[in-house]
Order: sequence, then C-alpha cells, then structure tokens
Amino acid sequence: MIHVDEALKLVLDSSSELGIEVVNLSDAIGRFLAEDIYADRPIPPFDRVTMDGIAILHASYKDRTTPFRIEAIGPAGSPQLTLMKPENCIEIMTGASLPKGTDTIIRYEDLERVEDTFYIQSEISQGQNVHHKGSDHEEGVILLHRGLEIKAIDVNILASVGKTKISVLKMPKVAVISSGDELVEVDQVPKDYQVRKSNVYMISARLRQLNLPSQTFHFKDDEEGILNEVERVLEEFDVLLMSGGVSKGKFDFIPAILEKLGFEKLFHRVAQRPGKPFWFGKKGKKTVFAFPGNPVSTLACFHKYFIPWLHKTLGKDQPQLNVVLSEDVSFKPNLTYFAQAMVAQGEDGRYFAKVRHGKGSGDIVSPSMMNGFVELPQGPELYKAGEMYRFMPFYPLFK
Ligand code: AMP
Ligand code: MG
Repeated sequence: MIHVDEALKLVLDSSSELGIEVVNLSDAIGRFLAEDIYADRPIPPFDRVTMDGIAILHASYKDRTTPFRIEAIGPAGSPQLTLMKPENCIEIMTGASLPKGTDTIIRYEDLERVEDTFYIQSEISQGQNVHHKGSDHEEGVILLHRGLEIKAIDVNILASVGKTKISVLKMPKVAVISSGDELVEVDQVPKDYQVRKSNVYMISARLRQLNLPSQTFHFKDDEEGILNEVERVLEEFDVLLMSGGVSKGKFDFIPAILEKLGFEKLFHRVAQRPGKPFWFGKKGKKTVFAFPGNPVSTLACFHKYFIPWLHKTLGKDQPQLNVVLSEDVSFKPNLTYFAQAMVAQGEDGRYFAKVRHGKGSGDIVSPSMMNGFVELPQGPELYKAGEMYRFMPFYPLFK
C-alpha cells in the first residue's frame, strides 16, 4: 500500500500528450491550443473612429464660434473618405475609418448643429476618439500562446484573425466501465439482491463538464469475458475508467486480468479512505484507472487522480484550492482521509470547510449535500479548526 502523494506522483509521471487535431472555431471552446495565434493585420487594422460625431482637422478649430460645415457622411464599413476643405467636417460613425485630412473626432454630445454646420461646445484635444492603427498590437505578433485553454474571449480573438480551423491538443478518448453481477441497467427493476449501476453515469456526466465525451460499458464478473472485452475496448480508447472488481473479493478479477494483458501495475492499494483498493497501470499510451466500485470511492479517486492526470496530459497544472477547517475533525486510521465537506466563503474572503462524515463509501446521497472533499493527510488523528487543507470540488464551483 502506498502513500497518496506517491500514488499521485506515479499517476502524473505516467501522463503524456496524445497529439494534435484540428477543430472548427465553433468547437474550440475549452480545448487547448497546439499552435501560436498571430495577428494577421495590425490591431486595430486602420485608424478607427470610436465615437459617433464629426471628424475635423484639429488645427482648424479656434473656439466655440468656429463653424464646421458638413462635407460628407461616413458610415462604418465604407472606404476611407477624404476631407476636401480643412475648415469643413465629415459626419462619421463609430467603427469607420478616420477620413484623410482629419485627425480628431468630436462626439455629437459635444456639438451644436445649426442647419448644415456644427459648432464645438467642449474642450477638445488633438487625436481624441481615434483608436490608432496598430496601437494595440502590430501585425505578426503572437496574440495567443500554444497551451492556452481556449475561453470565450479567446474565441473572439481567433475569429478576428480569421481562424476557422484551429490546432488543438487531442483529448483522451475515455471508456467508463462498470463491473459486477449485482448491477442492472437504470431502466430495469432490480431484484432484491441487485442495484442499478449508477457510477458510470456519474463519471460520464462529470467528464462532460470537463469537455470529454465518453462511452460507457459494463463487464460481467467473468474472467474470460472481461479479458476479451478489455482488449476490444482498448482498441478504441486511450483511457479506461473502470469501477468495481479491484478489492480482495473472490470475483475481483480486474487487476489480475490487466496484468495478464501486459499492463504495468504502477500501484494497487493506496493509504486513503475512501478508495483504498484503487489500481492504476499503463501499457504503452493506454492508461487504466481501476477504481473501487463504491460510488463515493470512485468519486474520490476520480477527483484526486484522474482530473490532475487530465490536466497534466493537457500540459497544465491542476488549480489548487485551499480551505480552512471550521471545526476540529478527528480521524484515527493511519490513512489520508478524503472528508466530504461543505465549503463556503467567510467574511474575510477565506473559504471554510464544514466536514460531514457520511455513512461510509456506499452512502451515495451524502455527497450531494456537500460540494467536495477536503484532503486530510495521513498522520495526525486530529485536524484542528483553523488549519488549512486542500479541497477538491465535486463540480465546477464557479460557472
Ligand atoms: P466492488 O468494488 O466491485 O467490490 O464493489 C463495491 C460496492 O460498490 C458494491 O456494493 C457494488 O455493488 C457497488 N458498485 C460497484 N459498481 C457500481 C456501479 N457501477 N454503480 C453503483 N454501485 C456500484
Ligand atoms: Mg464487484
């Protein structure tokens, strides 16, 4: 049995990138850039007018009595106009190109109009209300760096530089597999001694939040059958998230089968609760997380190991959230304890965790009332109020 930190290190060290694929702009959100994105033109690409009003030559302005006759009107989207007489003005709209022969924009709010002539009512300065060509970024500079997780605001940039196809890191193809002869499908009525399989749906749902599509499978507790099924699933998927069949029971065949199939066992059994029987191994680029079947154990292992592994595979560090215990927590076994907790922000801005022990790893309802696990490291038997520990949310806390 190994320590949680050692297990996590083995999981992270085993991760490797899965290559690159090209996606459409509309599918880029949440993906990780595999290329640098350059400015195809200066930003802004021309001297852009930023207010509706008039364009003038600043040198022509003396005071409030200086008349500016309208020479033309320039809507956004029309080619650049030219002011013919420097004492005149061009009515100009936000987003239009600054007319040649002008250098300053006066907004309508600061103007008085008498027939076809404007008079400026406020102090002005040369160059005001013009967003100069290239003043934000020059052509050819990198706007988005490879490795970036694409957010909506980045989609704006991708669109503005004309990227319809984007190179991104491949996401792992994930198979979520339940095992156990006591499990029946969700739409079936279980016999007295059966339960509906729920784990796989919980995991696929959580994977969807992580932008990972997945497919679910079910294996019977039958050695021969599992062996064939695993081989078949491995042909198509990069990662197997298995649940059940890794403990010490007579029908817990999974570890032996995986080793028979040539998987390197990186560890089996971790000094933690819940999720002690967790098995983890690799064969080439294929990775298997074999979680114990109890839903709360699966949930803990998924968050503690799979999510950081995913981040690492995508070249990212896992964001860390630390929380303060609001009450003492006593836990005697010499194991790391993933304690279910409700976390809320205190008046001082820190996050406080209130631990609730639940009724064990088979209690599937308790986590729904909590919002994550506090990780209480192996060692002390008492974790004191005011101490700070890592927190693993069950779901994205901020939308
Ligand atoms: P196991 O890890 O196979 O020994 O299973 C431990 C417990 O978790 C048993 O009570 C199983 O019935 C339950 N269990 C296993 N897999 C699932 C699943 N996919 N959904 C819900 N419960 C499960
Ligand atoms: Mg089982």
